[in-house]
Formats: sequence, structure tokens, C-alpha cells
Amino acid sequence: MGYYNVNLPNYSIGEDCYNEIPQVAKGFGKTAVVIGGKTAMAKTKDALLKAVEGSDVQILDFIWYGGEASYENGDALIANETVQKADILFAVGGGRACDTVKYVATKMDKPLFTFPTVASNCASVTAICVIYHPDGTLNEYFIPKLPDHTFINTAILADSPYDLLWAGIGDALSKECEAVFSSKGKKLSHTPLMGVQLSRVCTEPLLDYGEGALEALKAKQANKDLEQVALDIIISTGLVSNMTTQLPDYYFNSSLAHCVYNASTCTKKGREHLHGEVVSLGVLCLLTYDKQYALRDQIMAFNAKIGLPVCFDDVEIDEDEFDMMGDMATKTTEWKFKADDITREKFIQCMKDQNACGRAFKETHPMYYA
Ligand SMILES: [Zn+2]
Repeated sequence: MGYYNVNLPNYSIGEDCYNEIPQVAKGFGKTAVVIGGKTAMAKTKDALLKAVEGSDVQILDFIWYGGEASYENGDALIANETVQKADILFAVGGGRACDTVKYVATKMDKPLFTFPTVASNCASVTAICVIYHPDGTLNEYFIPKLPDHTFINTAILADSPYDLLWAGIGDALSKECEAVFSSKGKKLSHTPLMGVQLSRVCTEPLLDYGEGALEALKAKQANKDLEQVALDIIISTGLVSNMTTQLPDYYFNSSLAHCVYNASTCTKKGREHLHGEVVSLGVLCLLTYDKQYALRDQIMAFNAKIGLPVCFDDVEIDEDEFDMMGDMATKTTEWKFKADDITREKFIQCMKDQNACGRAFKETHPMYYA
């Protein structure tokens, strides 16, 4: 390879950050089309129109993205006359809406601004799209251009579903421990080395501000804690994802915690639980595996406090299913990039150990389980 590119996300955050749209749009164009989820567009429409009022930027239309991040929906948008006419694409919504418009912007070579309306994932800043078939089954990963700017409106985030932020916190808890664990003892080149170092700022803000951020959603009122957690989940983890993933060369973006999640999808009841919910239990398993007991106990107490799982009973997975989960884990991308000394048996053992540990924790901390 003769050269490589690194693109970093640009972003604005705060209750009034949409006011920056006209300034940021300079150099990109004058007309924009909003593409997104129905609820997301309903929640952002007034604020977006108000933000561009009297400016050089004109919003041509609001168009539904189609409900699934599929090539079919993307191609229909590419054929849409208003989309063709617009200088800039505005992607509004959650991960699937953002991923669809990232695909469209890449194919049409148009500037792209993203407007996340939930703080549950980093799709609004990452250079990867998870593409599904129209029937909802996974198709493939598509590598798009990076969005040109991301506007994180915390007032909009405060009005998003509680469970999505709750599980998003659980998912983001994995970023630091997985990046550090999977890269341990390896000599890293510049980009993944930076990515792993950045991952070290992902856990602490969640423990410090997670509860307060969830309070903001209960009250539907933005606060500083929500801002800190949104930056953690959207920006910090997004940067780490972009910098620690270079398939097929290296992959430090996730590890054993996501192996637990991936494996849980083959169990009877585990699949009924949210991704980040199960991942947060996987974090405890990973830290148990790595004998990082002090940090494990700290995160276990945090999980208990906000209702995330501490043992497999909490996600309705039986120890009888661990054997099957061991088989499933070995088929994942994470397993392909794991350290040599990790075996299927050791993986199963760390789940058993965490299960015993979490059950004992619940016995001794009844105040969290009243
Ligand atoms: Zn995840």
C-alpha cells in the first residue's frame, strides 16, 4: 500500500448547536434535503427550519429513509429528484437512518451532515454502514465516506427512548476494556496505537455521568451529564472504532465482551435482550477473564445501580447453554483476532466465574434489587 487516509469527525454539541448549520454549510452548498426516520424528523423539523431561517441555506424537503438500512432504500433515494437536486444531505435519526444516508452520500459524492437523535451508538460519525436485506436480515458492511459534520443536539437526545441510552451506556462500557485487552502485548502502528489510547477515556465518564444522563431522559431535559455521556458514546467510541478497525489487517475494536453478546444470540431468551445490555455483562466476563477484579467490581456495582446485568440470570441465559455459546463465539470476527492463549474452554469458564460472582454480589447487595 503506497499511502492511506485518516479522516476525523467534525462535530458540534449542545442544545442550540443547530444554529451552527449555516456557518458549517459554507463551502458545501446552499440547498439541503433532510432524510431520516419519521419520528426523528418530526422531533427535529422545527429546530432545523428555525436554524436555517434567514440564512443562505434552504431545506428543500424532508424524506423518509425507508425504514431499513438497505441498498434498495438507498438506491430509491439516489433516484429521487429532490435528493439529486440538493447540494447537501442531512441524515437525521438513529443508526439505520444514518447508515442509509452515508451510503447515499458516498454513491452520489455529496456532502453529508448527520444529526443523531439517540445517543445509543456512534453511527453518525463512523466510516462503516451495517447494510441489511429488505427482510431485516444482515447483508454486509459497506465502507462509506465519513460524514462532513455531526450536530449533536442534546435537547433532542433528552427526548429519546430511555432504554436505548441505557443499553448504549452498556455497549460503550466495552470500548476501553476490549481495545486494551485485544491489543495487549502487540506492537501497534500509529493509527491503532492512537485508537487504543483514545479508548482509555471511554469508561470513566460513563461511570461518573451515566446515572445523571439517564435522569435527563426521565425528565426529558438536557443536562451536563447527558452531554458528557453523548460525547462518550457518539464521539469517543466512534473515534476508537474508526482507528482500531482495518480488516483484514487488524481489529482491536471489540473482543470477548462482544463474543458473549454474539454467542447470546443463539440462546433461547438471551436474544430478547438489547445488544448493549448483554455486552455490559460481557464486559464483566472479560474483566473476570483478565483478572482485573477491582475494575470488574466497580463496573458491576455501576451495572447494578442502573439495572444493567451482573449475572446470566439477569439476561435469562442458563448455564446449560454455555456450551453452545462457546461454539458460537469461535465463529465470530472477534475470535479470529483474539490472543492465542484464549480457548473455548477458558471462555466458557470466565462466563461461569462471572455468573457465580454476580449471583454472590446480588446476595450481598439486596439494596439494588428491592
Ligand atoms: Zn456493541
